[in-house]
Amino acid sequence: MTTKNADIGLVGLAVMGQNLALNIADHGYTIAVYNRDPKKMLNFIEECKAKEPSHERVVGHADLASFVLSIKRPRKIVLLVKAGSATDVTINALLPFLEEGDIIIDGGNALWTDTIRREKELTAKGIDFIGSGVSGGEIGARFGPSLMPSGNRKAWASLEPIWRDIAAKVDPDTGAPIEGAAPGKPVEGGFACTEYIGPDGSGHYVKMVHNGIEYIDMQLICEAYWLMKNLLGMAADEIGKVFAEWNKGELSSYLIEITADILQQKDPVSPGFLVDKVMDAAGQKGTGQWTAANALELGAPANAIAAAVYARALSSVKEERVEASKILKGPVSKPVSDKDKAATIEAIKSALYCSKICAYAQGFQLMDKAQVAYNWKLNFGEIAQIWRGGCIIRARFLQKITDAYARNSRLKNLMLDPYFTTELNDGQAGWRHVIALAVSNGIPAQGFAAALAYYDGYRSAVLPANLLQAQRDYFGAHTYERVDQPRGQFFHLDWPEKN
Ligand code: NAP
Repeated sequence: MTTKNADIGLVGLAVMGQNLALNIADHGYTIAVYNRDPKKMLNFIEECKAKEPSHERVVGHADLASFVLSIKRPRKIVLLVKAGSATDVTINALLPFLEEGDIIIDGGNALWTDTIRREKELTAKGIDFIGSGVSGGEIGARFGPSLMPSGNRKAWASLEPIWRDIAAKVDPDTGAPIEGAAPGKPVEGGFACTEYIGPDGSGHYVKMVHNGIEYIDMQLICEAYWLMKNLLGMAADEIGKVFAEWNKGELSSYLIEITADILQQKDPVSPGFLVDKVMDAAGQKGTGQWTAANALELGAPANAIAAAVYARALSSVKEERVEASKILKGPVSKPVSDKDKAATIEAIKSALYCSKICAYAQGFQLMDKAQVAYNWKLNFGEIAQIWRGGCIIRARFLQKITDAYARNSRLKNLMLDPYFTTELNDGQAGWRHVIALAVSNGIPAQGFAAALAYYDGYRSAVLPANLLQAQRDYFGAHTYERVDQPRGQFFHLDWPEKN
């Protein structure tokens, strides 16, 4: 390859970088690739030569100087390295070789405040910076991810054609995936699941909220599975078939689809189903926790998202739970009778769907708070649109959210859209019944319960915060407003005032 020929460069050849590089090459772009450990780059290039029709457009470099010099100016360099300090180390290593107007695109799961800092530091050096959320795991990266770019607008204009080409494609009107993905066969046509999100780190912020929603989406599915297993005594494959059935209706989504597959997977090393052999201790990389922490910071009521993070934390203290299970008693369980089985499965489905609506309502409510706090203008209709394909939370449901924001771009809360209001109304009897069953049988269902508490709290014109404000005034003279006076007037009493 001659110098200055590559259309784009990519640093970081782990699973995401390799797949995104191939996706870019499949779309006719020449891509220069680099990895800190050159052995990984050489292995990747060898594998490409053996397997990939577009391998001639993927050019490996063992040193940063030749890598940078091989890219056309203004250079576009995508980073897919470990989020955190590795990103700063990589940027600092690149800097001596970059020239004014070159563009760095961070596709890692960066904390959005780090993205703001990096953009400031690089802008001062004449380098443009884009923080782009990338969702969809390795398959998404390979055949079409959902991409959430933000930062320098001029730099986005330069990156946009490539980002639109490689993004997932869905039917613009229905959100259905455009069929045809296969190795070396890029998917063409349709709506490309990427839009400019806004300035600063707003792209990484939106990706963070996406991941927070992903946490609760997964938790709710786990609770549905757990209730079918423990209330109804169903085996994993039977539950898997229920999920496969649900995947044909309004719950249709990538996460439900893979759940159906996972539950029906036999254990390759011993009799039974694999899911029953997987240790019940969840890991996390931090994006769910960032979302919950940011919601606390902004005062956004994202209790279901937080519940999902806490549920993972509780699962991770496995040894403590095993000990506690021998000491702490629960209620005597009352299994559901066979005659009520079908109705209970239907009620669990309602609980799952209603809780999911609340979870998404919380995510969008959080983004609404954030756009005010950080002075962004987020387009929620577009965000729902670009989540319809490629990403982990892709679902038929996202089209319903897209439609809701198309009906009313200033919708205060998703639950207030007529479609979602009706669904919540229709599903709430089953939802409440399932939570009551979970509580009376001592089965944890913190996601379902948190979502219902949010629903009931949001629809309550009056809450017991009157007493709370009185308590605050009693011990701390924090003052209170009165219901018989206009908002914004504050009162204090020298408690206890004798009647
Ligand atoms: P990863 O394990 O997060 O990162 C591996 C890459 O980072 C390798 O290229 C590695 O280089 C480099 N690296 C690690 N420590 C480094 C350091 N101290 N200095 C310089 N480079 C360092 O890989 P990944 O799972 O493919 O993810 C890449 C990025 O995409 C991450 O930010 C991740 O959060 C994000 N992401 C991942 C997924 C997913 O499903 N995996 C989905 C969306 C976004 P060496 O090979 O030399 O060690």
